[in-house]
Amino acid sequence: SLAIGEDSADFALMLDRVHCHFGRHKAVTDISLEIKAGEVVCLLGPSGCGKTTLLRIAAGLQKPSEGRVYVGRDLVSAPNGTHWPPEKRNVGVAFQESALFPHLTVLENVCFGISVLSKSKRKSHALDLLSRLGMASCAEAYPHTLSGGQQQRVALARALAPSPQVMLLDEPFSSLDARLRDQIRDDTLHVLKELNTATLLVTHDPEEAMFMADRIALMREGHIVQTGTPTDLYCSPVDPFVVNFFGQVNKHIGVVRDGVVRTPFGQLDARNFSEGSILRVLIRPEAVKVTPLTDKVHNAQSSHILMSRLLGASSLLHVCAHDADGQEAHLHARVPGVFLPEEGQPVSLSLDMSQVFLFQQRNKL
Ligand code: ATP
Repeated sequence: SLAIGEDSADFALMLDRVHCHFGRHKAVTDISLEIKAGEVVCLLGPSGCGKTTLLRIAAGLQKPSEGRVYVGRDLVSAPNGTHWPPEKRNVGVAFQESALFPHLTVLENVCFGISVLSKSKRKSHALDLLSRLGMASCAEAYPHTLSGGQQQRVALARALAPSPQVMLLDEPFSSLDARLRDQIRDDTLHVLKELNTATLLVTHDPEEAMFMADRIALMREGHIVQTGTPTDLYCSPVDPFVVNFFGQVNKHIGVVRDGVVRTPFGQLDARNFSEGSILRVLIRPEAVKVTPLTDKVHNAQSSHILMSRLLGASSLLHVCAHDADGQEAHLHARVPGVFLPEEGQPVSLSLDMSQVFLFQQRNKL
């Protein structure tokens, strides 16, 4: 029913105004999303926001209450009752708790879904995928002898083996330890790009989304709040929820007077807001530049250190800032490398305005 020129096959996966209700509970509300071949889109959001439900709808494991789903040119879910089962859709699915076939070896598990190749080609293709995911040495093992993380990698390889048009991944790296996870993410991304697969990946981890995604769809309570590249979401967030989702931020409330908001850590330009409006000021810790007071920093504010801690690649400082009027505020600053000024030491503060965000406060103070 699409007009010429808006061919659904431009997209490997298209969700068109999808809703999903469980009784009176709206798990997913009016979601539209398109994914092209070779593109990785991450559904990111807090627990219970509807990510898994949306992925299950794409997979055919859950019927939407409203809306359409296309896989390539195929209309696979529609309000008229069209509902293709998972095995008929050209999709690969790997969920967090994907069960492997216990009576098959790792290699047999991965070969299972490949139907088009000859037996020997099937085997070499499966071995290739296993080795890319660091699992070739376990090819003859049975699933119960593997760790959770190893099983997860086999499940990934099995889902990828038939070269599906669309890969649907739900927290596929969650049971891996940190070091292994980085490696497997890297390898998985490589394989997905090489196979030119369209991927929808569910995660609640913003760092994982930023690493894996070409585009992120950030969800909240069944809605998409913002869709864009990782840079769009991180550097041009549409609301405070988006800012907060990417890490702890310093919060301040101020009023616009003469086009600025005066804060204990400096005057902020607020010409884009109307005079007298109340603003929420969100400041990322990495926006706060801290320098020993001996340095002459133009326009910097006078402050002192409350606490400093080394986190490894960066140092976290708690700073008490104050202005000439005696206004005071506590700020967290994250600075690169080892910088551990002593408690009480006077410092200068300045802000990198690209990581400071001003939003109009909707309700009155
Ligand atoms: P998590 O990250 O914790 O897995 P999520 O974002 O994936 O969360 P969903 O699993 O999609 O969230 O759930 C969204 C909402 O829908 C939740 O409130 C959940 O309780 C509800 N829900 C999901 N599946 C069902 C179901 N089959 N019946 C009733 N309610 C459901």
